[in-house]
Amino acid sequence: MTPRKVSLSYAGASDIGLVRSGNEDAYLIEPPLYAVADGLGGHQAGEVASQLAIEVLYGNAPKHADAKALGRAVRAANAAVIEAAAQGRGRTGMGTTMTAAMIEGTHIALAHVGDSRAYLLNAGALLQLSEDHSMVADMVRSGSLTAEGARVHPSRSVITRALGSDPNMIADAFDFDAMPGDRLLLCSDGLTSMITDDAIEKILQTAPSPEAAVARLISSANDAGGQDNITAVVVDIEGAAPAVTAGATSRHTSAEAPVVVPSAGRAWIARVLWLLLAIAIVAGAVWAADTYAKSQAYVIAENGVVTVYQGVPGEFAGIRLNWVQTISGIPVAALDPVTAARLRAGVRVEGLPAAYALLEQYRAQAGILAPPSSATPTTTP
Ligand code: MG
Repeated sequence: MTPRKVSLSYAGASDIGLVRSGNEDAYLIEPPLYAVADGLGGHQAGEVASQLAIEVLYGNAPKHADAKALGRAVRAANAAVIEAAAQGRGRTGMGTTMTAAMIEGTHIALAHVGDSRAYLLNAGALLQLSEDHSMVADMVRSGSLTAEGARVHPSRSVITRALGSDPNMIADAFDFDAMPGDRLLLCSDGLTSMITDDAIEKILQTAPSPEAAVARLISSANDAGGQDNITAVVVDIEGAAPAVTAGATSRHTSAEAPVVVPSAGRAWIARVLWLLLAIAIVAGAVWAADTYAKSQAYVIAENGVVTVYQGVPGEFAGIRLNWVQTISGIPVAALDPVTAARLRAGVRVEGLPAAYALLEQYRAQAGILAPPSSATPTTTP
């Protein structure tokens, strides 16, 4: 997909918190590259690891927002942290998390290791993009702990993957397309262990600028105890939001009937004419809504697979305005979390060809071969 031209505004800050004696977090804002790293190891070693990882990431950053290439840059940072410890910089056993995003237009590449996080406020709703590599996250995934329990669990800081220990470490990496108006947040666990996702969502929804969002996130984490270093980077994906399609009735129904002026003896005729006019308006509106709906399409997750509908969701004047066109067989679970979340809400497009173009993209993302085209001649014995 060609990245749309959008402008970006961004801000970031790191705060020591209220309990720790030093700040082992580090962050990077070098558009189009943004990153957060949370160092581990104590006694200044964590600081060395996170700083070094950020520097090496920057030095190896790809030219374009490509998740695989960004993942390679994270692996270079991993090798550098291991090498530095071996050379006596920092300490053996030092490490760091790394959550990095590269943004080109609305296209975002993400690479991630550890329990720092990437979130996207997408169409006003908060999505967690990264999966924590931590013991408590494993417990939540296996069902033995709730998300809220994980946030306050005594072992919440035990991470299962980090830079600095395993030379074969692999970063989670994926590409996706955000929408104009979305807001990206990268943060360390000093934020997410102090305040809930609901609180983060509210701040991202209401803060008028990235600067204001960063300041509010950090002050909220400190108000909640500030037990760890707190780092937040917020990037607004700006630009015109997609045009909102006008409602069918307001667009297609124009009452062009003559104005009827009732006179004393002919009031009943006027009443009939008004009634006919009302019927015509309703019939016209239904016809217009139906015609409009047939020009529209949407793609939605249904029973776990991507399904194409002609029409618009919902109904008008008691008439359903959508018809199933294709049950694609593409599992929603095979798509990246942002696409999957959007599909659960439904993605509206202008007509079926646009819907089928989207299906092709989802197939490619899920690594599924397209079924033979109906245009391909088939031979029968
Ligand atoms: Mg931390």
